[in-house]
Amino acid sequence: MSLSLISQLGPLSPSLLRPAAVPLLHALQRGLASSCAATAAEAASAQPAEADTAGPSSAAAAAPEPPPLTERQRRLSRQGRGGFDFATAQPQRPEDVPDVVGSVHSIESFSAVDGPGVRFLVFLQGCGLRCVFCSNPDTWHMARGKLTSSKELAKKLERVKPYLTQGDHKGGITLSGGEPLLQPEFTAAVLMEAHTRGLTTCIDTTGQGLKHSHWDKVLPHLDYALFCIKSPISEKYEWITKRQIGPALGFVGELERRGIPYWLRYVMMPGKTDQPEDVEALVRFCADKRSMQALELLPYHTLGVEKWQAEGKEYPLAGMPTPSQDEVQRFVEGLKAGGVPVLCNKMHLKTEA
Ligand code: SF4
Repeated sequence: MSLSLISQLGPLSPSLLRPAAVPLLHALQRGLASSCAATAAEAASAQPAEADTAGPSSAAAAAPEPPPLTERQRRLSRQGRGGFDFATAQPQRPEDVPDVVGSVHSIESFSAVDGPGVRFLVFLQGCGLRCVFCSNPDTWHMARGKLTSSKELAKKLERVKPYLTQGDHKGGITLSGGEPLLQPEFTAAVLMEAHTRGLTTCIDTTGQGLKHSHWDKVLPHLDYALFCIKSPISEKYEWITKRQIGPALGFVGELERRGIPYWLRYVMMPGKTDQPEDVEALVRFCADKRSMQALELLPYHTLGVEKWQAEGKEYPLAGMPTPSQDEVQRFVEGLKAGGVPVLCNKMHLKTEA
């Protein structure tokens, strides 16, 4: 997805981070686990309700309002370790942003397609989904990432800032993955570092995590989101991700409630997610989404196959062809006819309803 414009920045010095970072990562993982355990009731509410298992039309229904917070959830939503209030803090100076260690997969220098303007693109490690078309299965396990301080990442950001502020759009940082929401405090700290430098913030996400322990810490610091819906049809979502669709619907409802602009990403797989029922479900899904800027269509590609092999995993879509330009065009026309604004850079199409 990324477009390298200048050479990749040098890696962080492991000697700088390693001694302190190992226990910090363990703490991070313990914290994540305890946050998840503490909000089991919330998790239950985020799982598919009756409507999510009843078929395409119900899967596209509006997400229910979240239940009221317990006192413990309220505390988790406000504060991270060290007592910093991630949910409400709006630091104006870099020195007021806490330093948080996260697990990073890689830095891709610059991207022109992962948010507005030129983006500094960082892939975080760790993902809870297991998508059949995943291009980055090496990002799945959080412990395999490079332990990285948010302050060190901010220094790199500072160095490239002149490149990000060129052009018509206000560029900035995009955190991708993996799933950036699974490291909420690290993600929030990096986004705050960007904001204090006048840069815009974006995450490429599938809406993982839980509202009070994850989303509430990150979303106050977010200008844009790239949200991949996988499929609005619950059975297809489960086939693609091996997880249920409920949390994703809850997350898009949260983006809508907060009025955060987002692009809806959708991977079009021949014979699987390019059928008339898929067009209908997407049109229904998009109909009431006021903060959605456009649907970005991503035709299936095979770039991830070698990574699956390198991981010793059998590629689930072996033999699946990439869609032809005509097939993509037909799918785009179907969406446009339903009033959905569509972007598709991959096939050199740029079309809007
Ligand atoms: S959400 Fe992204 S990183 Fe995670 S399995 Fe799916 S495609 Fe891969």
